[in-house]
Amino acid sequence: MLRAILYSIVAVLAISMLRSVIGILAKSFHDFVNPAPAQERRRPSVEAGGELKRDPVCGTFISTSTALQKKVGKEVYYFCSRECFEKFRRA
Ligand SMILES: [Zn+2]
Repeated sequence: MLRAILYSIVAVLAISMLRSVIGILAKSFHDFVNPAPAQERRRPSVEAGGELKRDPVCGTFISTSTALQKKVGKEVYYFCSRECFEKFRRA
């Protein structure tokens, strides 16, 4: 009786160990087969859309889709914040 309990405990331990080993193997195999999605996640999502332009006041690069804009003649200036926008306007 005691032996049967011992055997079942050993069996459960062996199965759970085997399952974790298979899980690790499956994960590494998956990473090996599909390395692209992992790289995709690591890439910074700075460019949510549009081009990157330099703020002429503070020098920060901002996306044209989110930046404040001011047109002077043919030139369009992009600003990271209203503060920079106002500073440029007053200058
Ligand atoms: Zn700025």
